Amino acid sequence: MSSHASTPAAGSAHTLPSYLQADNLGPWGIYLQQVDRVTPYLGHLARWVETLKRPKRALIVDVPIELDNGTIAHFEGYRVQHNTSRGPGKGGVRFHQDVTLSEVMALSAWMSIKNAAVNVPYGGAKGGIRVDPKTLSMGELERLTRRYTSEIGIIIGPTKDIPAPDVNTNGQIMAWMMDTYSMNVGATATGVVTGKPVDLGGSLGRVEATGRGVFTVGVEAAKLTGLAIEGARVAVQGFGNVGGTAGKLFAEAGAKVVAVQDHTGTIYNGKGLDVPALLTHVKANGGVGGFAGADSMNPGEFWGVDCEILIPAALEGQITKDNAGKIKAKLVIEGANGPTTPEADDILHDKGVLVLPDVIANAGGVTVSYFEWVQDFSSFFWSEDEINARLVRIMQEAFAGVWQVAQEHKVSLRTATFIVACQRILHAREMRGLYP
Ligand code: NAD
Repeated sequence: MSSHASTPAAGSAHTLPSYLQADNLGPWGIYLQQVDRVTPYLGHLARWVETLKRPKRALIVDVPIELDNGTIAHFEGYRVQHNTSRGPGKGGVRFHQDVTLSEVMALSAWMSIKNAAVNVPYGGAKGGIRVDPKTLSMGELERLTRRYTSEIGIIIGPTKDIPAPDVNTNGQIMAWMMDTYSMNVGATATGVVTGKPVDLGGSLGRVEATGRGVFTVGVEAAKLTGLAIEGARVAVQGFGNVGGTAGKLFAEAGAKVVAVQDHTGTIYNGKGLDVPALLTHVKANGGVGGFAGADSMNPGEFWGVDCEILIPAALEGQITKDNAGKIKAKLVIEGANGPTTPEADDILHDKGVLVLPDVIANAGGVTVSYFEWVQDFSSFFWSEDEINARLVRIMQEAFAGVWQVAQEHKVSLRTATFIVACQRILHAREMRGLYP
């Protein structure tokens, strides 16, 4: 080995390019802080830790489209592959007016962590377009999606990097992405994206997968902490795909969903809401507001509701230093990505609230995306029962491993998940070695 190995030089932590440095606690800064926190636990693998502090590859693309009124509009798009040591890049595509390269970098890094935490054979990636899709017609949205896919087509592919839906993207957008990629390569390549409609190589069980994963890790944590699910009071923020499914499964297991908040209102019923009726109401009305079987509540009171289990399943940055102190739950299960700020995390930890972090709690979605990809490759599709059983097994095993590390090192489950994931990624990096 070179005697210069320990000399700070180009490529060391001291010379991170400016765009990689954390000048504030935006998402990338939070991620770097999380990596620093686990570095002391990485043993000899700490030698490789810099690899986690830089994305492997980041592509910025110009996405020009002709609007319906005949003008040409340009949008900025990104695809970042944070790490591919354990397998191809994997992660969603977000269409949002506030998307930035730095945010996509952080989201891609969290995908590396999440995929390693549940031990699916992927690296981490993420993409996005800085656009408010609500301002576009269907035709414009399709042209935007297809041009973006063509532009990032040089780095994605079924064995290279596999996008999926994220904020404001869905099965239809995945179908357009799959078709565009397939047209460009001259063959139908269903495995280039996941989260596709079932008739186009999508997987059964994908829609409910994230909520089912949230429920599964919640049940495991409850067992380990002596909390009975039967009769436990549950509060859920966000009653969409993730929160609605998790709420339904907890209610089916005998818990009482007492409070739900979404963008249309906050509702409460101390005896337990009728969850199937609430899901029907949400489907018909677009939100929980106006649901007959509950009282409406001041939104600010939601976080202080008497409950044992709290599930943030809506947006980022919801549990903050201003409301964390009010939380009465014993267990917080992060269905959403990044719902708890680092200051709030510390407050909850000091109060003895157990937080099941996003990087493990909401990994059910990517786990079934992995099943979708495997099924596409083999062109053989599994039953929903088979998918759910495999999902539950993976989530239980992953959670047990993280729990053990948390006990061993006396650290939070978030830090433990990072330890497990970073070790897996860096071990793969070490075994592969540096090329050339
Ligand atoms: P969704 O669009 O189906 O539901 C979002 C919910 O959040 C809706 O009930 C909406 O009313 C609510 N909401 C929006 N703004 C709100 C506000 N200001 N206050 C309170 N509630 C508000 O989305 P989803 O797929 O359920 O995703 C929810 C979260 O889970 C996101 O953070 C997402 O990134 C994360 N996540 C989703 C998946 C997945 O497979 N769907 C996987 C991993 C993580």
